[in-house]
Amino acid sequence: TDLTGLLLSRIRDVPDHPEPGVVFKDITPLLADPAAFTALTDALAEVAGDTGATKVVGLEARGFILGAPVALRAGLGFIPVRKAGKLPGATLSQSYDLEYGSAEIEVHAEDLTAGDRVLVVDDVLATGGTAEASLELIRRAGAEVAGLAVLMELGFLGGRARLEPALAGAPLKAL
Ligand code: 5GP
Repeated sequence: TDLTGLLLSRIRDVPDHPEPGVVFKDITPLLADPAAFTALTDALAEVAGDTGATKVVGLEARGFILGAPVALRAGLGFIPVRKAGKLPGATLSQSYDLEYGSAEIEVHAEDLTAGDRVLVVDDVLATGGTAEASLELIRRAGAEVAGLAVLMELGFLGGRARLEPALAGAPLKAL
């Protein structure tokens, strides 16, 4: 579609970043283009509406840049899921495996409660590890997963299949 073409034209492939053999999808050209950034925000806000979300969770760090305007556009609150050790209040944390070692993400426990339907927003779905951990966090907080919405899915990494159990029927929308 026109939207897909516009978005793709503003995403830059950076070979060998952050390490040799990886082609990194750089979204900074998209962020710098207000027409493309607005189109992206509108499309993700539509997903928020379609899924009946009551809150938007953004995943550090690019999920913050995309998630905050989406939340405002959809008329919803924005909740940051951060890397461990950053949030000052009482947190729930979830660790997950990386290729080498592990990582941990956290959310303020009081930000998500029973009755919330949460849409998770991030820029890129790769292996799905980060998103999977965030869905786990949301459920452990007692909230419901409304869905996962990303700008781009790297299909060859199999994230969608990995996320199937954690999504439990909630939609995964990749623009
Ligand atoms: P995953 O946990 O799915 O393997 O990795 C997804 C996370 O890493 C997302 O938070 C995303 O921002 C980041 N990420 C992984 N690969 C890329 C990439 O090529 N481009 C961008 N912009 N982010 C990436």
